[in-house]
Amino acid sequence: MSCFSCVESAPPVAIFALSKAYREDPHPKKVDLGIGAYRTNEAKPWVLPVVRKAEEAISKDETLNHEYLGQLGMESFTQLATRMLLGEDSPAVQEQRAFGVQSLSGTGALRIGSEFLRKCVGFKTVYVSKPSWLCLRSANHHLVLKNAGFTDVRTFRYWDGKNRCLDFDGMLEDLAQAPKDSVIILHVCAHNPTGVDPTIEQWEKIANVIEKKHLFPFFDCAYQGFASGDLVKDSYSVRYFVSRGFEFLCAQSFAKNFGLYCQRIGNLTFVAKNADVLTNVKAQMALIVRGNYSNPPAHGARIVSHVLSDSQLNQEWHDCIKLMSGRIIQMRKALRDKLEELKTPGDWSHITSQIGMFSYTGLTPNHVRHLVDDYHIYLPNDGRISICGLNTNNVEYVAQAFNDVVSKYPDNE
Ligand code: PMP
Repeated sequence: MSCFSCVESAPPVAIFALSKAYREDPHPKKVDLGIGAYRTNEAKPWVLPVVRKAEEAISKDETLNHEYLGQLGMESFTQLATRMLLGEDSPAVQEQRAFGVQSLSGTGALRIGSEFLRKCVGFKTVYVSKPSWLCLRSANHHLVLKNAGFTDVRTFRYWDGKNRCLDFDGMLEDLAQAPKDSVIILHVCAHNPTGVDPTIEQWEKIANVIEKKHLFPFFDCAYQGFASGDLVKDSYSVRYFVSRGFEFLCAQSFAKNFGLYCQRIGNLTFVAKNADVLTNVKAQMALIVRGNYSNPPAHGARIVSHVLSDSQLNQEWHDCIKLMSGRIIQMRKALRDKLEELKTPGDWSHITSQIGMFSYTGLTPNHVRHLVDDYHIYLPNDGRISICGLNTNNVEYVAQAFNDVVSKYPDNE
């Protein structure tokens, strides 16, 4: 009898299962609207040319070797990443009360950051937006937070399904009810999965509640530059919180904006009220990293710091993020125009008012089932689509299919 016979079964990570089903489907018109990765207009993955250049330079640099990095990662990278997030002239940067810990992409930053907040600060309760970064049945934020030691993971209202917009009153009400010292996970920009972000006025009100109720913000920044093409605009929320004097953590990912998905490169930024607490924070973070994976990998950190520290390459990278975000914006417009032209029942203005990689279409699980089975268009059950899967060759086909299922099956069965 195996010791493992007591192991319970678990659902597959649904978004990857969906992607596998897409790859195995021989249908010539199949479309992948599931996976959150950039695709060119030819539906191909894209290695940013500036990343290729950086890799070439790194491979020729004989001063580099494969020695271990320290627990907190490559300092040149974490400094550049922290400055990219907060801005060169940020008071937190200038007063040396911000620093970064290199992480295994955004997920790794969320994990070590929440472990720190749970074990070293003693916070007990954490709130996540409803919905938040989901993979169908496996909700990533929930999974990461629970694995980091939080047993009390709660949600605050975020999405108003009826009007397809932010449920701002619900959000504020729920935050106002949260116990003191609760951690609040906030998406910096391009909220996943809804694509709906608070406005500048709404961020002010969110900050007011967080301040008044003594809550702790933990930002999640997976799409800086990828949302609007502008790094400053996309980091408005965190920079605003710095200007208000908040302390916070922010998990930064370089998966989307550098196209470095599998390199697992990220940064956990700390912003404190004063610099003298940071020595102990760094010492504890070193132990957390040591106890998890000992030290981070170097390749992604070398690429990002090579690009961010060179003004010419930095400019080329900006051109890349403009191109990617621009294509997404164009595809949003093309899909909406086509649906309106077809007179598809309902209001489709949210397709263009939402921002970033994803759109929460409002399509029901029944619509999704028909899209997958009858049209070979793959998307998760919650109706979230990755706009990157659309291109000038398939957008008409997708719009026609959406029109067909919405007209044929007006209600969720
Ligand atoms: N948070 C959110 C909201 C995300 O959408 C993502 C990317 N899917 C991440 C974090 C981090 O992903 P990664 O670990 O690949 O950087």
